[in-house]
Amino acid sequence: MDDVIIIGGSFAGLAAALQLGRARRKVVVLDTGQPRNRFAGHSHGLLGHDHKPPLDILAEARQQLTRYPTVRLVNARADSISGIIDNFFVVTGEGESLGARRLILSYGVADQMPDVPGFAESWGTSIVPCPYCDGFEVADQHWGLVWSGPPSHNYVRLYHDWTETLTVFADGHDISPDIRADLARRNISVVEGRIAEIAHHRGRITNVNLESGRNAGVDILFAHPRNTPSARLHESLGLATVNTPFGIALKVDDRRETSTPGIYAAGDLANPAMASVTTAISQGATAGISAQQSMLV
Ligand SMILES: Cc1cc2nc3c(=O)[nH]c(=O)nc-3n(C[C@H](O)[C@H](O)[C@H](O)COP(=O)(O)OP(=O)(O)OC[C@H]3O[C@@H](n4cnc5c(N)ncnc54)[C@H](O)[C@@H]3O)c2cc1C
Repeated sequence: MDDVIIIGGSFAGLAAALQLGRARRKVVVLDTGQPRNRFAGHSHGLLGHDHKPPLDILAEARQQLTRYPTVRLVNARADSISGIIDNFFVVTGEGESLGARRLILSYGVADQMPDVPGFAESWGTSIVPCPYCDGFEVADQHWGLVWSGPPSHNYVRLYHDWTETLTVFADGHDISPDIRADLARRNISVVEGRIAEIAHHRGRITNVNLESGRNAGVDILFAHPRNTPSARLHESLGLATVNTPFGIALKVDDRRETSTPGIYAAGDLANPAMASVTTAISQGATAGISAQQSMLV
């Protein structure tokens, strides 16, 4: 039996494995190699790794973990989990059964692409979710924002640090008169109607085409599609969740323990606030240390 099985070996999971490996705990990391930002050419904002391809950052982290003989990285999907503290079981897609005293869930979330031609193809290149990740590179250009409800209003003020040229795409949403008045005061134009297609060249937007036949050009489009956990393993154990504007997240305490003793969660899967590589790494390290300290004799 291992000490910890980590499900999801990206930024959060590998950060947990690093702390546990340094504490000489026996760890297995299961991973299917689909980090959320794999569509982006570069990852931004991670100290020491700014403007590097995300897969390069992960490859370097995996390489550094080979120093730790008690850490085993396995390319496999976790298919099911069961058990209780000190006696958890995980079955992989290949049918291998693994046992551990603690579990760390770090399998991330998957963004649900809308059924709009060109959207998925442009995701990560010229349709992006986060100005801290991609804003600097397109500062002072013409930004678009796909409205997804009243919380979208907060982005309007936020984006002003990067650009003064913003177009809002209502995309079928009713925008209230008071919000419209604020947008007008800020000289932000609102394009009505639903988006029918993103015209693009190799992921670079050339036009946003509307169902009405109208089109509008922007340099970059910010959008916040809903997301779902990348696996449903937490459901089988009935772990508590919280609702966020973008989807659900696992509920955790300060030590990143879920509602079930012995199961910890880190990264986007359990981060209702601001998803980022930096946050995922921090939470993963906390989960790893918490799991280790919970096993002290
Ligand atoms: C387009 C885009 C660009 C972004 N750019 C940036 C940026 O520049 N800077 C920044 O800080 N953040 C950026 N982010 C956010 C960043 O991608 C996430 O915050 C970060 O990837 C979260 O790390 P994580 O370890 O929680 O999850 P993920 O990185 O999503 O990793 C989850 C891992 O779990 C694996 N997995 C899933 N199910 C299973 C299973 N059943 N068994 C085993 N493994 C499984 C997956 O294959 C994956 O490897 C961006 C996000 C997007 C969508």
